[in-house]
Amino acid sequence: MDKRRCTFLSENLWKKALELFAGGVNSPVRAAVKPYPFYVEKSEGAFLYTIDGQRLIDYVLGYGPLILGHAHPYVKKKIIEQIEKGWLYGTPSKKEIELAEKIRSHIPSAEKIRFVNSGTEATMLAIRLARGYTKREKILKFDGNYHGAHDYALINAGSAVSEFNVIISSGIPTSIINTVIVCKYNDLDCVEKHLRTEEIAGVIVEPVMGNMGVILPEQDFLNGLRELTKTYNSVLIFDEVITGFRLGLSGAQGYFKVIPDLTTLGKIIGGGLPIGAVTGKKEIMSNLTPEGNVFNAGTFNANPLTMAAGIATIEVLETTNAYDIANKASKEIAEELDNSLSKKNFKYTINRIQSMFQFFIGISKVTNADDARLANKHLYVKIHEKLLKLGVFIPPSQFETIFTSSSHSDEIVNLTIEAIHKVVSEI
Ligand code: PMP
Repeated sequence: MDKRRCTFLSENLWKKALELFAGGVNSPVRAAVKPYPFYVEKSEGAFLYTIDGQRLIDYVLGYGPLILGHAHPYVKKKIIEQIEKGWLYGTPSKKEIELAEKIRSHIPSAEKIRFVNSGTEATMLAIRLARGYTKREKILKFDGNYHGAHDYALINAGSAVSEFNVIISSGIPTSIINTVIVCKYNDLDCVEKHLRTEEIAGVIVEPVMGNMGVILPEQDFLNGLRELTKTYNSVLIFDEVITGFRLGLSGAQGYFKVIPDLTTLGKIIGGGLPIGAVTGKKEIMSNLTPEGNVFNAGTFNANPLTMAAGIATIEVLETTNAYDIANKASKEIAEELDNSLSKKNFKYTINRIQSMFQFFIGISKVTNADDARLANKHLYVKIHEKLLKLGVFIPPSQFETIFTSSSHSDEIVNLTIEAIHKVVSEI
């Protein structure tokens, strides 16, 4: 049945939203669900329940934070317990110590931490710290890496920036654009050339690209970045807003055994509530106010509600087989998708690591953003739409990641695989 036929409650809200919000939404990728987004009534486990009465198996998972699935009972209990005690103190609480200790015990580069409220704030601060620490101005980033929605990051970025084809956001002063150098992902020669010839404060990289679909670092790319930045006294920043606590408790740096100077975190460490964090070497982190003179502040920084959700989430990750379940779901779905696609007469590739993957049609290898741009976006969207009709929600954009969670049980995975086989056979 075409379930999208009876979505008039969502349609009515969408009409109001178009009057209220630019493009009808408060974050652009949400408008990529056509002809209009579905509106969610509630969520639980692997499911979203729309106001029109549809149940969707969710592989977007809030764009990454919900590695335990929606409304995990233990996280919910801890959030409610904290709500009973108040949720904003404007002064420190024990919870921030607990979450920081957990992060420090797992993330190899973490010596000191600053909590902020989003991944955007985290990368903005990490870049400022690198500049303040080195007294240099230039930053090197990679084409297709997305580091949030601030001026220094919106240059050749991935995610919705690519989806809506805004290579450099309008509104960013040229003087700022001129401080940002862009290399292709996996291109160490480019990095070497710029580090050698220019004074570069820091190199910021997604250790696994999750914002152009999924793109993996080639062997020696991350190691090469580590060596080059050391040689040229530049700060290496791993943006682990997606990969932190997703590839495992120690993030991408633990997985690939490459330790950056600074790490930005977000998403999972807030258990689904707004969060960001910068962590790294004491020597660099100590430049932050009030210890040093690189400024950061925030009304909601380290608020106890987010801290409680983050601690609870990491506790579950530490004490259960959550990663095993999430990784198995991703592996099985990707394998069956591969099986299905291999029967078609087009080129494709699937990039996967742990509980994140994405597929690209029309190209057999994707190692940088240019490759990803060559994929058949039109066909991707078609598959997304057909899956949605069958109750399976994958990202509406080629340039996002398909995530799995510990709520994606065998039964749910099997339902998904059935839908995938049906959809791929029809395209
Ligand atoms: N860095 C990366 C790698 C991200 O994927 C994102 C968001 N998807 C951000 C930074 C920005 O995080 P936020 O949306 O919380 O501002």
